[in-house]
Amino acid sequence: MNVFISADIEGVAGICSPSETNKADPDYQEFRELMTAEVVAACEAALEAGATKVLVKDAHASARNIIVSALPESVEIIRGWSGHPTSMMQGVDQGMDRAIMLGYHSAASQQGNPLSHTMSGRTVHRLTVNGQVWSEFHINSMTGLYYGCPTVLVSGDTALARVVKAYDPAIETVEAFAGTGLSVQSLSPKKVQAEIRAGVTQALQRPLDDFRAGLPEHFRLQLEYKHHSMAYERGFYPGAQQINDNTVQFECDDYFDALRFMKFCI
Ligand SMILES: [Zn+2]
Repeated sequence: MNVFISADIEGVAGICSPSETNKADPDYQEFRELMTAEVVAACEAALEAGATKVLVKDAHASARNIIVSALPESVEIIRGWSGHPTSMMQGVDQGMDRAIMLGYHSAASQQGNPLSHTMSGRTVHRLTVNGQVWSEFHINSMTGLYYGCPTVLVSGDTALARVVKAYDPAIETVEAFAGTGLSVQSLSPKKVQAEIRAGVTQALQRPLDDFRAGLPEHFRLQLEYKHHSMAYERGFYPGAQQINDNTVQFECDDYFDALRFMKFCI
């Protein structure tokens, strides 16, 4: 069993402010360490559960957040960005069997996390697909499914956990904190790390047949931008059309075409 881990920071225990996600800020150091500790907890649990390969994608900002010297010996990590449309899931096409998402967060425009955003806090006001608001969890779990690797555990904010359960109740969730406005009420990092450990153990024991989510046959993406000028420019992407002042629509059947649209139009 090959286990893939995609790790973000805006859903790590206790995190609350943009400065805590930003490498150049002194606030960042503690949350980089906590992100690393959550990833290490998941790696160790996966290896104990019999994973033959564990591949981690550092998936926040520079993609150079996780303290690599802390990783268990048999884990591999992808740092930096290749530019491939799989983005936060780069490497999931290497024969991975189950995906784990750590430190994930609610979608742009949604309450429940002061740091809610979707792929880019600078450009995206909201992404809907087939009429439903999509978070990075949706984008990336679909990417996993596209390559035959269902998501089995997600950690992050409580509002995201509700969304994950609605998407597929079989997915284990770890709720690190609940956000209200620009505040969070968080479990202690040690408690979250213990829950990730227990959750990974549980999730990797489940038969794959339990995971029911599948890829839709058709995707109608509507990307609402923070500024009308962004929609005007992206409206020239092949196959896309600007449908109102700040929204571009793109439709496809093959999910890779949706990934490519997001790669160039977010
Ligand atoms: Zn992030």
